[in-house]
Amino acid sequence: MSRVVVVGGGPAGLTVASLIRDRDVLLYEEHPRFGEPRHCTSIVGLYTASFFAKLLTPRVVKRGYKRFLFHTRLGSYLVEFSREVAFYLERPLLEEKLADKASRLGHSLQTGVRAKPLDTYSVRAGDGIVRFDRLVVADGSTGEFFRFFNGRRREYLYGLQALVEHEGGEDTIHVEYGVGGALFSWFVPIGDGLGLAGYLTERHVGDPGSAVKKVLGVAGVKYRRLLGFFGGVVVKPGQLSRPHIRGRVFFIGDALGLVKPFTYGGLYYVARLARVLVESLENPATYEREVKRLARLNSLERGFSGIGVPELAPPILKVVSSSGLFNPLDYDEHFRLILKTAASPLLVYLTLFKSVA
Ligand SMILES: Cc1cc2nc3c(=O)[nH]c(=O)nc-3n(C[C@H](O)[C@H](O)[C@H](O)COP(=O)(O)OP(=O)(O)OC[C@H]3O[C@@H](n4cnc5c(N)ncnc54)[C@H](O)[C@@H]3O)c2cc1C
Repeated sequence: MSRVVVVGGGPAGLTVASLIRDRDVLLYEEHPRFGEPRHCTSIVGLYTASFFAKLLTPRVVKRGYKRFLFHTRLGSYLVEFSREVAFYLERPLLEEKLADKASRLGHSLQTGVRAKPLDTYSVRAGDGIVRFDRLVVADGSTGEFFRFFNGRRREYLYGLQALVEHEGGEDTIHVEYGVGGALFSWFVPIGDGLGLAGYLTERHVGDPGSAVKKVLGVAGVKYRRLLGFFGGVVVKPGQLSRPHIRGRVFFIGDALGLVKPFTYGGLYYVARLARVLVESLENPATYEREVKRLARLNSLERGFSGIGVPELAPPILKVVSSSGLFNPLDYDEHFRLILKTAASPLLVYLTLFKSVA
């Protein structure tokens, strides 16, 4: 049977491994346990939450959110939807379930082993050289395979967050723009009196403790204790890898580099692309087409995120949600929000006109 080597046991590598049948898969993860150390906040939209719930178990989706409070220099905006539009994924349960599924297919998942790039036929792993028929590069945002195969370095953004014991406010996600020089910051209640408070910046912040306290202060969240910090880096949007190299080496997840321009999330693109990649192992043009299609939409969204001040996003979201045009899937597909923003004044007018008539 032909052999697929997967480098990286994060959500991207494990999802791909859990979907491959009729081939041998050998997956390498450099850390001793899947899903650790943790770096992600784990907030996703309906498409991504449904994808993982169907693939694994509904238990990987811990909870959903309808209420968002945006804090901007122009004021605070509460946006409330009639249905849950954002969801919190349970980690490392997600990685554990993906690893179980891949193992049950007979695949070999090796933890504590770092792979190194050699060429389009083999990698170095542990003490040996391992040959492959296909290589799936899923080594995250800072992995060395991107540099090796694309011949350049990437620029990053830095995300840091604290697990917080807090009081009240269990149902609202807070999003802030421009606090303490951060691109944006957040407080996400995750249940049982715990929440995640964090921020994304262009460069490291000297004292994460006081930065997180500032985030909590602006959000007006009362907290008892900061229980610990974790974080990582995000690829700056717009620095894509080639989707594949000669139909032998495929990139996915942060290694591919598709990141949502408003929230900087990457899990949506894993959910969108994992199955397409697996189905394209013999026909890379299909994968390339889908990556390019998503990249075009992503670049349209980036164009809009670049021209407006981010402070304009919440009032726009409020208009779209009150026009009744919002569909929960729009959380992941911002280009739909942009189109609906353009259409909503007209539709609100037509609705009013119809009801008066
Ligand atoms: C602070 C922060 C908050 C975030 N919040 C969200 C969010 O709310 N929603 C969202 O959608 N996205 C979020 N993201 C982004 C999200 O975490 C990534 O898009 C997602 O983890 C990508 O999955 P991945 O498998 O490609 O990469 P990773 O999760 O980084 O996994 C890559 C794995 O490869 C392993 N590895 C690397 N090199 C090697 C090697 N040479 N050999 C063997 N193993 C190797 C690493 O140890 C790692 O386990 C956030 C990111 C950060 C930093």
